[in-house]
Amino acid sequence: MKIGILTTNPNNYSNRRIVFEAEKRGHRVELVNYLRCYLKLTPKECTIFYGGRELNDFDAVIPRVGASHTFFGAAVVRQFEIMKTFCMNSSLGITRSRDKLRALQTLARKGFMIPDTGSSHSTNDVGGLIDVVGGTPLVVKLVEGTQGLGVVLTRTRKAAESVIQAFCGLRSDILVQDFIGEARGCDLRLFVVGDKVAAAMLRKAAKGDFRSNVHRGGSAQKVKITDQERKIAVRASRDLGLRVAGVDIIRSKHGPMVLEVNSSPGLEGIESTTDINVAEEIIRYLERQSHSSSPLKQTEI
Ligand code: ADP
Ligand code: MG
Repeated sequence: MKIGILTTNPNNYSNRRIVFEAEKRGHRVELVNYLRCYLKLTPKECTIFYGGRELNDFDAVIPRVGASHTFFGAAVVRQFEIMKTFCMNSSLGITRSRDKLRALQTLARKGFMIPDTGSSHSTNDVGGLIDVVGGTPLVVKLVEGTQGLGVVLTRTRKAAESVIQAFCGLRSDILVQDFIGEARGCDLRLFVVGDKVAAAMLRKAAKGDFRSNVHRGGSAQKVKITDQERKIAVRASRDLGLRVAGVDIIRSKHGPMVLEVNSSPGLEGIESTTDINVAEEIIRYLERQSHSSSPLKQTEI
């Protein structure tokens, strides 16, 4: 197969690992900086140009679209979809999951357990918004934040009001969420590939923090997940339109709840914690798709 990886960061761990495993299994790989692509759209043809040539010979594309380039990254993926190139993650899945509010709306509508969540554009009725999630303690989040940045825990009403007003004053879209205190700073990262969980880890916040993100000093360890957690992760990924996803689940006293779904989950933490070759799982999944009855056909999901 000829596989294209859409990334602005060819040398990061995840990309190096995917390239290594793909080449080891006999595939050709090209790293494409999607920000340098340009798109041609006419009623007769839709094409992508990159480095002076047309990108029309990929059997599959693995999008690794960064959080700050969702708009154009998703547009490039969409263009590949129009060209009927198989895309590991759909443009719809990428845009849906990137916006935390939109993702939670989709998940809530489909019946997933999520922490009670509220959102509002104006600060006219901050008190009402706080009541939506049952008062404090609550978590305030930037709708497009990543790596734990822009996720704040407020323990008093006064603090919650100040943080909400400050974020809104900066013209940021926010959501507020019931704080799941019983998780004690832990959550699960389930790495989904296709219809299975390839690897899972338990992440633990650093002392004094409630955010388990490794970028915020959190640590990770192997974990045994339940069948229910496994099913939730696979279904959440599929329902958002993703084939590869990092599904974050928090263990609440009411059962497992989905916190968020990442469309370009990193490989370093999960591979080093679990010793599982996740990059190979991704390539094997592509191979299985190409040998299936409908080989690497872009499908609506
Ligand atoms: P990011 O995209 O920045 O990772 P998340 O929504 O995943 O944002 O939040 C970051 C971390 O904060 C989570 O991994 C979890 O440890 C903690 N967290 C987020 N929401 C809640 C919540 N409602 N209750 C308790 N902890 C939470
Ligand atoms: Mg997260």
